[in-house]
Amino acid sequence: MSSRHSNDPGLAPASSLPGVGPALAATLGKLGIERVQDLWFHLPLRYEDRTRITPIRDLAAGESAQVEGVVEAVETGFRYRPQLRVAITDASRETLVLRFFHFRRQQAQQFAPGVRLRCFGAIRHGQHGLEMVHPQYRMLHGDVAVEETLTSIYPVTEGLGQQRLRAVIDKALARLPDETTLELIPHDLLQPLGLMPLRDALLGVHRPAPDADVQALLAGRHPAQQRLAFEELLAHHLSLKRLRAQVRKHRAPALPTDPALQKRFLDALPFTLTRAQERVSNEIGGDLAKRAPMLRLVQGDVGSGKTVVAALAALRAVANGWQTALMAPTELLAEQHLRSFRAWFEPLGIDVVWLAGKVTGRARSKALAHLADGAPIAVGTHALMQEGVEFARLGLAIVDEQHRFGVQQRMALRDKGRAAPPAPRARGTDAERQSTRKGFLPEYAPHQLVLTATPIPRTLAMSAYADLDVSTLDELPPGRTPVRTVAIANTRREEVIERIRAACADGRQAYWVCTLIEDNDQLQAQAAEVAHAQLCAALPRLAVGLVHGRMKPSVKQAAMDAFKDGSTALLVATTVIEVGVDVPNASLMVIENAERLGLAQLHQLRGRVGRGNVASTCALLYQPPLSGLAKQRLETMRETNDGFVIAEKDLRLRGPGELLGTRQTGEMGFRVADIVRDASLMPAVQRVGAALLRAHPALAKRLTARWIGAAARFAEA
Ligand code: ADP
Ligand code: MG
Repeated sequence: MSSRHSNDPGLAPASSLPGVGPALAATLGKLGIERVQDLWFHLPLRYEDRTRITPIRDLAAGESAQVEGVVEAVETGFRYRPQLRVAITDASRETLVLRFFHFRRQQAQQFAPGVRLRCFGAIRHGQHGLEMVHPQYRMLHGDVAVEETLTSIYPVTEGLGQQRLRAVIDKALARLPDETTLELIPHDLLQPLGLMPLRDALLGVHRPAPDADVQALLAGRHPAQQRLAFEELLAHHLSLKRLRAQVRKHRAPALPTDPALQKRFLDALPFTLTRAQERVSNEIGGDLAKRAPMLRLVQGDVGSGKTVVAALAALRAVANGWQTALMAPTELLAEQHLRSFRAWFEPLGIDVVWLAGKVTGRARSKALAHLADGAPIAVGTHALMQEGVEFARLGLAIVDEQHRFGVQQRMALRDKGRAAPPAPRARGTDAERQSTRKGFLPEYAPHQLVLTATPIPRTLAMSAYADLDVSTLDELPPGRTPVRTVAIANTRREEVIERIRAACADGRQAYWVCTLIEDNDQLQAQAAEVAHAQLCAALPRLAVGLVHGRMKPSVKQAAMDAFKDGSTALLVATTVIEVGVDVPNASLMVIENAERLGLAQLHQLRGRVGRGNVASTCALLYQPPLSGLAKQRLETMRETNDGFVIAEKDLRLRGPGELLGTRQTGEMGFRVADIVRDASLMPAVQRVGAALLRAHPALAKRLTARWIGAAARFAEA
């Protein structure tokens, strides 16, 4: 702790608060709370409204409510497991059942008929009307006032309940200094934004005033929450910017384009690049020619041709004597890349090494030896990041499908290039060699290229990818015919099967995709096996293949190959085919239980058809009746093939968590901010962030530490 801030009461350890002994301090540590300021910024997850009593008659299932009533009847019983049922009634003369599965005998005895109690809990439909399962409750003796303010509910941990934590937070709040000491954002930056002072905002969020706007607080739109959301977004933004600055301090090899080699590569391709591919490839080329590490995201819809853009980047590394690693999140997708890369590079005499989890024993040692020896290109899965994988001189790290990896994984691959010595052809100037000897040469880092097929709306990209430059492939290769999408009730399954028969008789191929909501390989595999058996029976003249995640890779590959070379006409699959499968002759896709899938996944799946020049159809089979949300999703799919439109819609329907993938949001873990709800704050966040970094880097650092604390340490890496 620097002495300059030693007057900051927020930096004192939490154990300096009265009543916080070593045991409690250790429990707080599990929540990431070490200092007093960590308690200030440990914000409520939500609120419970115990400021009023709801008459039982007015209760509605799905809500949480506070109810007061008199015990009418008590019943302990045993059906599958012990349970206690307590019926209460109030002046509205309706009955509510409180149901307990875990209870002690004395507890059951408390509920004698005639006893008054007040309880709070979620209302749901039970067997006999409305009920509350395991409500919080207290017995009432005489008149007891209701709470005056909303009750803050905090993230807690084992051994530390709401009440105890609330008391500790109260003690921490008592140490909040005055506004000028607390505030980190300089007045001239903050003032134009018209936000509430930080001190008032913290107090208002932890301990809402009796007259606070309850609806606004519950919706996260209260000015106090907005002030904190702004700061939190700013802290995340600053940490990503700092991460970027750290990486950019490193040295990367300059990888200028070799025009002759590039021409040979392009001439051998079976197609010409789209204008978008050319533009993005030039943007990448501009980055790679410099000695600062590239940090670039290429976003492009399914089928927009990201792979060849990545290959052109790899070609630049090859031309300059540096290695490229291309990492994909699934083996299937990595294999698809391997095939493309081998087809493009091997005719030029450039080797492509394969490394995935299933590469073991001698094959693995051989692959590792190649990489350590400087093999030009490696394609694979997470296996590329594992310990024991050494690159002689990694110059470019490419990660496909970013939303399935997190920032940390991206960095792990980058770290593979860290220790690499300069390559023979990129040795740097004499002065640099001089400084290396003195240990002054900036640490080395490879260029990074990230590919994503999930187009990210701009505001979201600003928050999630502030550390990356973004290029967009906004054009599909020519000759694609837009996919016609229809939604069909499962009751018309026979008609759909008939359509498959007709299409396949016509020489076309089709996918039948089985989906289950559970993320369970085994159940998915079973569902696919059942569908496969049914379709084989219904279409006896067709060759029907099957792939699912439970198959041995060799069996899976054989099934894929058979479909690819046309020896099977219909492929029954689980969502393992979501990414990377490329069979232009497939022009019909049936997706079962389409109502259960999110928009992003439906769009990815649909991207497997419409790759050739025949008109393709995607049939979304659904189980009626449809929920409102499912109806909107299917309608969106019917209306558009544009991944960006779909992503925007998805964002509105589902929120960012699903769009970015759970891992990513877990990593971002916002406390008050919601990157969709608060998207309008982003331009100000960017503006203030840039000004802070330019003029007040020390304040930027303190602000990040306040909000992200220990998690910010990864930004130092
Ligand atoms: P994605 O962006 O979804 O990763 P791919 O790189 O897999 O797309 O490309 C999809 C298909 O389009 C592949 O078969 C690829 O060879 C082909 N392709 C890529 N670029 C072009 C182009 N410019 N013209 C024609 N076909 C192309
Ligand atoms: Mg791809």
